Amino acid sequence: MYNLVFLGPPGAGKGSQAVRVSQRLGIPHISTGDMLRAAVKNETPIGLEAKAYMDRGELVPDEVVIGIVKERLSLSDAEGGYILDGFPRTLAQAEALSNVTKVTKAINIAVEDEKLVKRLSGRRVCMKCGYTGHLDYDPDEICPKCGDKLIQRDDDKPDTIRNRLAVYNKSTLPLIEYYQGLGVLEELDGYRSIDAVYIDVMRVLGVQ
Ligand code: AMP
Repeated sequence: MYNLVFLGPPGAGKGSQAVRVSQRLGIPHISTGDMLRAAVKNETPIGLEAKAYMDRGELVPDEVVIGIVKERLSLSDAEGGYILDGFPRTLAQAEALSNVTKVTKAINIAVEDEKLVKRLSGRRVCMKCGYTGHLDYDPDEICPKCGDKLIQRDDDKPDTIRNRLAVYNKSTLPLIEYYQGLGVLEELDGYRSIDAVYIDVMRVLGVQ
């Protein structure tokens, strides 16, 4: 059973890996960041509550995010496994998750802070199809998948990036020890190409 958690700082490449692993294993990719951004865009009550935290690079309150994830995991497509990307981010979230499901692997994709600032400030995303790119590879800022314009996420601006990294180091880093204690932690070097990291992810999952 692949009940997977992808850990790692913002910009480590969790989302890029999750998209590929989800396709390869046929299990849903559940990104709390994507779900919250959709809620903000649609101006739902959760979106309206979450927006101010997200704009500052702070964490949305645990009870809000835990509620979203529990609801998502209860859908039938998650019965055969899932990839959680960006959740849990606090010990309280990790404990709430343990109460509803057994995580079989937590994969930590590690990258140093200075390298993340460069990656995140050049990151560009497509709001239409979800593609994530970078100015280095997509200098014309056009989505190579669907042709829409690529944009910079509001929280990928330098001041917010620094805050997100500080929040990660304070609130989310302790989860590495938590999953190590459960005996399910795998650590990978994320400062490599998407292909190289993906090969390692498949190896630790024991997928041929
Ligand atoms: P991400 O796309 O994963 O970087 O998430 C973007 C933003 O959404 C974060 O900076 C938080 O404000 C919020 N967010 C996403 N996931 C969580 C979570 N598990 N707990 C709290 N806030 C979250």
